[in-house]
This record gives sequence, C-alpha cells and structure tokens, in this order.
Amino acid sequence: MTVTTRFAPSPTGRLHLGNLRAALINWLFAKANGGRLLLRIDDTDAARSEERFVEAIRADLAWLGIDVAGEERQSARFDRYEARFAELVAAGRVYPAYETPEELELRRKVLLGRGLPPVYERAALALSQADRARLEAEGRRPHWRFRLDHDAPIGWHDLVRGEQRFEAARLSDPVVRRADGSWLYLLPSVIDDIDMGVTTVIRGEDHVSNTATQIQMFASLGAGLPEFAHVALLTGAEGKLSKRLGATGVDEFRAMGIEPEAVVAMLARLGTSDPVEPLVDRAPLIAGFDFARFGRAPARFDEAELHALNARIVHQLDWARVQAQLPEGMDRAGWEAIRANLSTVAEAADWWQVVTGPITVPALSDEDRAFVAEAAAVAESIDWAEASWAALTGALKQATGRKGRALFLPLRLALTGREHGPDMAALLPLIGRDAAILRLRAAA
Ligand code: GLU
Repeated sequence: MTVTTRFAPSPTGRLHLGNLRAALINWLFAKANGGRLLLRIDDTDAARSEERFVEAIRADLAWLGIDVAGEERQSARFDRYEARFAELVAAGRVYPAYETPEELELRRKVLLGRGLPPVYERAALALSQADRARLEAEGRRPHWRFRLDHDAPIGWHDLVRGEQRFEAARLSDPVVRRADGSWLYLLPSVIDDIDMGVTTVIRGEDHVSNTATQIQMFASLGAGLPEFAHVALLTGAEGKLSKRLGATGVDEFRAMGIEPEAVVAMLARLGTSDPVEPLVDRAPLIAGFDFARFGRAPARFDEAELHALNARIVHQLDWARVQAQLPEGMDRAGWEAIRANLSTVAEAADWWQVVTGPITVPALSDEDRAFVAEAAAVAESIDWAEASWAALTGALKQATGRKGRALFLPLRLALTGREHGPDMAALLPLIGRDAAILRLRAAA
C-alpha cells in the first residue's frame, strides 16, 4: 500500500506558520516512505471559504517546494458524504438532536457547577418518534450527532505521542452536521481519508480528541484505521506563540527576505531531537525524517534563529537559484563575491551599487589621502589580469612600509566608501581597473 498523507487546510485565510509546518511534515514523511502527499481543500464551510485562499494555498506550497500528488475538494464530494451519512443514520450511529446552542450552554454550566465533566447527556437519544414530530412541528430542525459506542475502548499508537487511550463515555457524541445541513469537519474528513487511501494522518496535537471520536467513525464505516501522528504545537521563544508570529505566512517571510530553504530547514527540525542546520538541500531532511525524533514538548519557534539560519542559507545559494532576485547586470562572479556578506538576497543590491557606483567616500586624513594618491599611481602600473588586489597591496606595502589595517582600510574606504564588506580580492576585479583608479584619485 502506498504511503499516503494529506494536508487539509480550510481556505478561510492564508496559511500560517503552524499550517506550513503541518504541510512540510506530511510531505517529508511521504517522501521518506516513497509515498505521496495529497492536498485536500476543506471547504465545507461555503460562507467562509474563498477561491483566492485556495489559490494562495497552492502558491504557498509551491514556494516552499512542497509538491502534491493530487488535489481534492470537500465541496465536490457532498453527494458522497450524503450517502455515507444516510448509512450511519440507518444504522443508528448518527441521530438527530434538537437542543439550541443556548440550551446546550446552560446544561454545560449546570454540569460544570456540579463539578461534573460537561459531556452531552444524550437527551436526544431518549426522544420518541412522537417527540421528534412535535419538535419539528414547532419549527425546530435537528442537528446530527455521531453516537459513540461507550463499550468500545478507544486507543491508538500515536507515532509521536505513543499509546493513547480514551474512554468513550467521557466524550460528548460529536456533532457532525448542522441544522442547516452543512457539514462539520469530523465526518467528511474520515470519509475522505477512507476513500483516498490515506495511510497516515499527520496533524497538530490540538486534534487528539477529534481523533478519539474519528476512530469510531472509521469503524462505523467499515474501514480499517490509518496511522496517526499528532505533533506538538509551536510556541514562541518566550512561551506562547504571539498573535503576530502565529499569523506569519509566506508573504511575511518573503517580505523579510527569508528564503523558502530557510523556512523548510527550520520547520523540519523544530521540536525534534535533531539540530536545526542550514541545509539548502532537502535530501538529508527527508532521509533523516523519523517521528521517533519528535518530542512531545511544544516546539519553540525563535524568529531571530530563523534570520540567522536564513543568512547561512543565503551564503550557500547558487547564482542560478537567486539570479531572478538580483539587480540587473549582477553576474555569477558578483554574486559569489558578495553572498557571504548578506543576511538576505535583497541586500545584494546595496553591494552591487558599491561595485557599480557612484559611491560616497568619507573624508580621509591628509596622510591617508597621500597614501591613496600613491595607490592610484600604483594601480595604473599593476597587471589587472589576475590577483589585482594582491598586486596592488603588495606593491604599496613595498613602497610605503604600511601594513595591516593602515594599508587596507584607506584603500577599502576609497574604493567602496565602507569600512567593512566583502573580500576586496573578489570585489576589486568587479569594480575594474578604470573605476578603481578614478575612485582612488577622487578620494585623494
Ligand atoms: N481542516 C482541518 C484543519 O485545518 C484538517 C485537520 C486534519 O488534518 O484532519 O484543522
């Protein structure tokens, strides 16, 4: 059986950090097991689902390099849900309930007030045919609950959390369909997982109690169980994930100059016992993927760590990969000279400006001005074909006796206008003979 995972976002907004991580983990697990990842658009909520978010989800996954083997849509499968729902109603596993939200809330409060768990007491199961007819005559429309089998123990071996046990009697019969006929997520998701051959359900641990009820839904529909993996949720560096960080998505990462490789390298390893490493290539992330390495403690997301990781990724990126993001005219040599000094690819434009000019040079001391005047003369005489920086500084050292900082800094300032920057040996050939001589003369 082909390992099949699914990423199942609701298109009611943009994907955020937690969604992106869920998508990535589903993808990594599928790849690590020679399997496939499906994208399932959970758009049963017609009022809140929007096409532009479906498009954004596809674009966000593409940006991260997460390829999917197929796309499914819940809104295209309502007939199927209807058919399976009818089977469950006929079998008595789904029943109509007529309480209003206010009545349910009141009941909850009473139970909590008595120190009892606020579990739905199944008043609707006790209704006779005549009771139901009377309620409907009053204009009440039922919502529908899945009847949990209190005698069947619920358990599974979670790939992250280990052995899980729930007592069915301590859970409320979940509502699977609203009074207006619309579907809640629980039952359609199970029907889909069965029909689409999903072998492994991977999602956040906020779904653990859903899994407890869904396990009985699989059985009630005559299907075997998939495997389950519930990963710990993300937290911020100092406790809970902030609202802002929690909402961070691909657009924000892009705007900050974060590359997809950095997001992948970080999200793949957060919350695992493996270190976050600046891996541009995802093959090692796939090869080393193992749920046994995921911890149960919340995974700490530190934005500063992402920026630092991004810089280390940028330093490794190949010119062909970044070319489209670079300023006009910046060639391979330019990129390779500059990349080690960047935190983001966008910063390459600043350094390219330094190469192509014009530059502003701070005023030099009289001594240094005399020195760069001499440098201008030397620059005219050296061989520019190769190792021009070594030739220039070597000749100047001989001629002036200057060395170290006194030798290099005035030259760097005169040639780039900056005290720090990329290796001058790489930069000088990019500036070129004529421009270099003009800059040295100008600074003198
Ligand atoms: N649409 C659900 C969510 O985004 C899917 C959960 C699942 O993976 O089953 O929470």
